[in-house]
Amino acid sequence: MYEQCPLKYKLCYRDKIKRDVEGVEAFLGTRVHDTLKKCYNDVRLTKVNALDELLSYYDNIWQQNWHNSIIITKKDLTQGHYKALGEKMLETYYKRYAPFDSDITISTEMRVTFSLDDDRYRLMGYIDRLSRAGGDVYQIHDYKTSAYLPSQQDADSDRQLGLYHVGIQKKWPDITHIRLVWHYLAFGEELVSSRSEEAISKLLEDTIRTIDEIEVTDEFNPRESGLCDWCKYPDLCPLRKHFIKVEALPLNEYINEPGVVLVNKYAQLKEEASEINEEIDKVKEAILDYARREGVEVIKGSDRKVRVKFDEKLRFTGKTEDERKQLDDAIKQAGKWMEVSQLDTTLLTRVIENSLWSEELINQVLKYGRIEETSAIYLSKLKDEEK
Ligand code: SF4
Repeated sequence: MYEQCPLKYKLCYRDKIKRDVEGVEAFLGTRVHDTLKKCYNDVRLTKVNALDELLSYYDNIWQQNWHNSIIITKKDLTQGHYKALGEKMLETYYKRYAPFDSDITISTEMRVTFSLDDDRYRLMGYIDRLSRAGGDVYQIHDYKTSAYLPSQQDADSDRQLGLYHVGIQKKWPDITHIRLVWHYLAFGEELVSSRSEEAISKLLEDTIRTIDEIEVTDEFNPRESGLCDWCKYPDLCPLRKHFIKVEALPLNEYINEPGVVLVNKYAQLKEEASEINEEIDKVKEAILDYARREGVEVIKGSDRKVRVKFDEKLRFTGKTEDERKQLDDAIKQAGKWMEVSQLDTTLLTRVIENSLWSEELINQVLKYGRIEETSAIYLSKLKDEEK
């Protein structure tokens, strides 16, 4: 969550702000997980449910748990569509794996707690299902109900199941062969991966670095993405809270809300300015034509005059043009570079912000810099879903 949006992470895990709202996708995921848990728990007790029995169980837990704070963000979809989607996922899974005897289930919704190195980095997670397949191969299964099918490369670098791998090996050090299996239920697809010792060491290193970063940071900036539609904190987010505020207003109050008034005025003026600038360019062009045609350099108006200046200027290839490097090299080779070059402070700022130089040099350079507040306004059209 920190990587997705630092602000959301802070509100959820540092400030511990609880919200009842739940996205319908998460609700659907929990019901499908619960149904598969029942399926495998019953198999462990020698009972293989018929598909109808599982679907009826799913239907019951759906009805029992549905509540009024569930959000459906896609306006053209209803509860019924999502419920049917879950049924379809279960049916596809059932047809592929029944009678569920290709492996032996060791545990479902298994809680794993473990440390990454010493006790400073303790983690907890829930493995959807742990099983033993042929031989001494253990499988960590994860059910995914998302509408996105990741690539094999994504699976090979997935952190969640990689960490479960660590958890299982710490719990049972004798287990050496572990397969990671993702079931992408919406697609009836299985993705399989495994982790080498080297990959595990790198995962531990990266995860510890991320935890350290989260623990020391004071910056929790919002990071906008497609996941914002499912965020529980839009009313506390500077990127979204004005939307929430004004959407709750009746139309007559909405159009008089000071923020709405200012944006509308700004948009109108920008549009007028752009039309005027276009017209100015056209008139400028016409003035130059006129001056050339008439052989004049000063043109008289009613109470103003215009002076026209035609000149020639030496121009060199731009930074991005092909020949620029050859030009730079020629000047450098002649030993004249310092006479015509100067510090690019924009580039210097980027180097400092990304810590590309040694700490010592950065600190030395920073003596000559100062922090100034800057501001910018970007005007853009509302997306359809934001209207
Ligand atoms: S709405 Fe988006 S940017 Fe704002 S806190 Fe939530 S996830 Fe982050």
